[in-house]
Amino acid sequence: MGFGGVSKGGKKGGKDGGKGKGKGKDGGKGKGKGKGKGKGKDGKGKGKGGKGAAKVVVEPHARFASVFIARAKDDLIVTRNFNPGESVYDEKRISVDAPPAVAGGESTEKIEYRVWNPFRSKLGAGIAAGIADCPIKEGSKVLYLGGASGTTVSHVSDMIGPNGMVYAIEFSQRCGRDLVNMAKKRPNVVPIIADARHPMKYRQLVGACDVIFADVAQPDQARIVALNASMYLKSYGWFMISIKANCVDATAAPEAVYEAERERLKKDKCKPKYQITLEPYHRDHCLVVGQYRKTKAVKNE
Ligand code: SAM
Repeated sequence: MGFGGVSKGGKKGGKDGGKGKGKGKDGGKGKGKGKGKGKGKDGKGKGKGGKGAAKVVVEPHARFASVFIARAKDDLIVTRNFNPGESVYDEKRISVDAPPAVAGGESTEKIEYRVWNPFRSKLGAGIAAGIADCPIKEGSKVLYLGGASGTTVSHVSDMIGPNGMVYAIEFSQRCGRDLVNMAKKRPNVVPIIADARHPMKYRQLVGACDVIFADVAQPDQARIVALNASMYLKSYGWFMISIKANCVDATAAPEAVYEAERERLKKDKCKPKYQITLEPYHRDHCLVVGQYRKTKAVKNE
């Protein structure tokens, strides 16, 4: 797509990638040692990376139109910044030349992307781990359960762009403050401080949605998704649920927990279609993607 530079300093280190055996296509999978002084998990290390813009090429992701891959020393997942010039969680930003309006002409415009750290986001981890499909697209209406401070919500806001809307539900007042502040600069985010167990309470703020993304890490999360789906998800709309095994049942094997959760979802008309482990980014977590069917399909005789 173009060449540009990393506009914010910070060499990756430790878990976030570093120099080493990046696996390529999906970004963020580099396993190596991380030569610089990166702090590890959150990728906020100081290092030398910010000095002198490194050459970066940004290309569309092979399967997901709203996600991009920045190709430099390592591949990184990035989203196009809906609020250029600002980071949300101290993530790096990458600026590249926009394609020239006239073929053969020189481009003066820049496009800015934000690096998506899969260690800090279940959705980012699902994409980095190679999930088969991501129903969140340009223009999607998304109900996000468990928005926390808005780390992943901000990338969803980038993905859906100006024609989409993400309704982010979070019940912690402390996280909610950051979420509300982030939303001030992003008109496609509606922050809602509420308990997702009571979806009626936000009925005046939320419209019909194409996708529910759930990351509440609660034992009754399947029920929470089903309750919200029945109120807000369009028929044949998609749900994506991050399952943290030990939040549901700390005594059972993760695979058994995932299976039991899939069964619970099925009973509530939420039919799982894909599942992917979120390891190595999130231990004993998986992401389940499926479709909600409000009514049983009528067979054509
Ligand atoms: N998805 C977030 C991200 O990627 O940035 C992280 C979410 S964190 C694992 C789980 C969040 O869900 C917490 O902030 C917690 O307060 C919130 N949560 C848990 N139960 C909830 C509920 N019933 N209603 C609303 N939020 C809830």
